[in-house]
Amino acid sequence: MDFFNLMGETYPTTVNGPGSRYLIHLQGCNLGCKGCINPESWSFKLNKRVNVKQLAEKIINIKPEGLSISGGEPFIQSLALLKFLEYINDANLPKGVLIFSGYTEEELKLIPEYESILVLCDVIISGRYEESKRVYDSMLSSSNQKFIWGNKHKRITEKDLMNQDFEVVVENNQLTLTGFPEISKDMAAHLKDLGVEISYKN
Ligand code: SF4
Repeated sequence: MDFFNLMGETYPTTVNGPGSRYLIHLQGCNLGCKGCINPESWSFKLNKRVNVKQLAEKIINIKPEGLSISGGEPFIQSLALLKFLEYINDANLPKGVLIFSGYTEEELKLIPEYESILVLCDVIISGRYEESKRVYDSMLSSSNQKFIWGNKHKRITEKDLMNQDFEVVVENNQLTLTGFPEISKDMAAHLKDLGVEISYKN
């Protein structure tokens, strides 16, 4: 599998892991977490078909400090994810590779490519988002989630992940929030009444 179904890309971002990072969102998730801030990522319809080698080459040329991979659920595209990380590995990004996954470690271990992917990344933030267990002091969004450290985890430390912040990107009369935003649905509705649409990428 040489292609991603890609939802989107953001560069640079400084709120999805340490340093200045390239962030990609893979399209498709069937985990249905209540309170998910990115339900637009759930659909499995083809959004943007992207060759993983070409995407890796583009990112390597840009030379970000690090790479973060979010969704959707990245491990649903695990074959393409493994190939992509094999290409990215050549760049040895100084702030490493971070993956956000809704799967628990037990579920990840059932995925054939999981161990190989773990060799090529620094940390996986693992587990469903549980709204009732929301936390605000680390990149774990809820207290049931955990860090799974990969084989190169010295490029990212737990201290690097002990914060939450968000960024706002303004494009075509639309605000896109990335990171860990805390904007209520009421406020989003109010902004919409004022003509400002908000979407989330995380
Ligand atoms: S795993 Fe992530 S993208 Fe999927 S529903 Fe849960 S929070 Fe949303």
